[in-house]
Amino acid sequence: MRSPTRLALATSCALALVSTPTAAWSADTPKAEGKTASTAKAAPVDCAKVKCIALTFDDGPGKYADKLLDTFKKYKSKATFFLEGQYVKSRPAFAKRMVAEGHDIGNHSYTHPHLRELSEDKIREELQKTQDIVKKATGKYPTTIRPPYGEFDTRVQAIATEMGMPIVLWNGGSRDWATKNETAIYNEVLKNAKRDGVILMHDWVEQTVTVMPKLLAALQKQGYHVVAVSSLRGFKDAKAGDVYPVGSEKDKDLSSESPTGDPEAYAESPADGL
Ligand SMILES: [Zn+2]
Repeated sequence: MRSPTRLALATSCALALVSTPTAAWSADTPKAEGKTASTAKAAPVDCAKVKCIALTFDDGPGKYADKLLDTFKKYKSKATFFLEGQYVKSRPAFAKRMVAEGHDIGNHSYTHPHLRELSEDKIREELQKTQDIVKKATGKYPTTIRPPYGEFDTRVQAIATEMGMPIVLWNGGSRDWATKNETAIYNEVLKNAKRDGVILMHDWVEQTVTVMPKLLAALQKQGYHVVAVSSLRGFKDAKAGDVYPVGSEKDKDLSSESPTGDPEAYAESPADGL
């Protein structure tokens, strides 16, 4: 803005706006003046005022992600996807669409290892490779980390701090990977739903994707706004290396919500169908 040309342009634009007031311009309050048209249009959900919940999807982009995105669009809702670098490499178009449609993207490592068993260099490599491939596919870097299996230690936290990202866990599960049953997934999510809750799901589980219209309709009927994690109350206070939601790392049931080392449970995940 220091360039004289730009300044002159900005001034003449302002003058043009002042001299030719439109209905929209005159209806605007002075406060809205500095905002771009897009921010003014997309009134963000204020989770301090309304009841919000975040549905989060790990291990993708999964092969059903496109269908899931269609559903979120239809229900005017936002999701959070914790992506694996290896599948962003296989399905860059899905990752690109997630970002383009305003969903949150987090880093779920490149190959889904147990980070606590890796050297610090390897942890960095798993996370940085994913940062880079997501940026390449979508134009944006992920802004949060969800470590595979929800497992981390002080080294992982220090590296997250170094990389400028909070660690996002969850405080409600769906057990979708275990039951693979629409009714069970639906009931489990509604049972665990709470204001500002973060629910763990997987977009490689077909039943999660097929039950989603019914689930979003039910949550909305209960008054929930289904938002991305970054819109939830308290998220803005989470600093790099912090765990969000606060206290979720102390919940011992959490790790049983994520597929563990069982290769059978995880085998259906993403690579097939390419
Ligand atoms: Zn995972």
